[in-house]
Amino acid sequence: MSQRIKTAISGSLPKPAWLAEPEKLWAPWQLQGEALEQAKADAMRLAVDDQLRAGITVIGDGEQTRQHFVTTFIEHLGGVDFVNRKTVRIRNRYDADVPVVIDKVVRTKSVFVEDAKRLRKLTKGPIKFTLPGPMTMIDTLFDDYYKSREKLAWAFAEILNQEALELAAAGIDVVQFDEPAFNVFFDEVRDWGVKTLERAAQGLSCKSAVHICYGYGIEANIKWKQGLGEEWRQYEHVFPLLANSTIDQVSLECQNSRVPMELIAMLKGKDVMVGAIDVATSTVETPEQVADVLRRALKYVDVKHIHGCTNCGLVTLPRDIAAAKLQALAAGADLLSKELGLD
Ligand code: ZN
Repeated sequence: MSQRIKTAISGSLPKPAWLAEPEKLWAPWQLQGEALEQAKADAMRLAVDDQLRAGITVIGDGEQTRQHFVTTFIEHLGGVDFVNRKTVRIRNRYDADVPVVIDKVVRTKSVFVEDAKRLRKLTKGPIKFTLPGPMTMIDTLFDDYYKSREKLAWAFAEILNQEALELAAAGIDVVQFDEPAFNVFFDEVRDWGVKTLERAAQGLSCKSAVHICYGYGIEANIKWKQGLGEEWRQYEHVFPLLANSTIDQVSLECQNSRVPMELIAMLKGKDVMVGAIDVATSTVETPEQVADVLRRALKYVDVKHIHGCTNCGLVTLPRDIAAAKLQALAAGADLLSKELGLD
């Protein structure tokens, strides 16, 4: 087996213009019914193809079948009203129209398992599938039933676990839970955030991962980051808890970020998916810039635990830019692998 540094995307890729409006979060679908289902499947094939051509080693579906990484999952559950949406403040930063929990939440059927089976057929290599994490789910809806963030998080953790077990059975090699909320609500992370995350990943036969970022490259997030000071030490609250958790891999934001790299030393024993691609700029990184970030990470984490990744999802970028960034990511990881004599 190749010893070269592995690469993966954190989750989303841009959608083709015939599927959804480009460069936009929650972009409405351009088609309906059977034509929409066909178009989603076609878009997934293209997303996989872009990754394989670039030389990415762990392949994702590019989240081509979801309008949004959290709300699409929630809309498939019982106990949720997604027609009469309410406006809430997300991650303490920006307002969005979100589904409303009106009853006990239940998973009456699989959400993404058919997509996972489709992805499994598109490559023989390792594949990753993303799900929202429990805390990020409760932070992306309006709760009119449980009236407790913790209680609802535990309910979602059980539902996520049912889904994750089915994804693993469908041949997924890494199930990743996206928890950008972990960078905001530190007390909750400590009290029940990591515990509910572990519950969501309980009993998985494949690897489990968590993605914690500073958000998509949208204006509200860029403004928020500008106010975080010279050093971003948010991960400091979370990493020690994750180091002691059952979660195998941690995906984080490093390229063009003010996160001190030494913080990853706290993740001893875990695979660290080092974000080496900035999702908030259309400037394409050079392979050398990607290699530089990964090289800095090597000071604190053993090379066998380092994976090259994107800072966050690429959904808001133009397609050609995203494709070029994938190529830079793979080329940068290869550059460093060669330098280290890995083959
Ligand atoms: Zn992210």
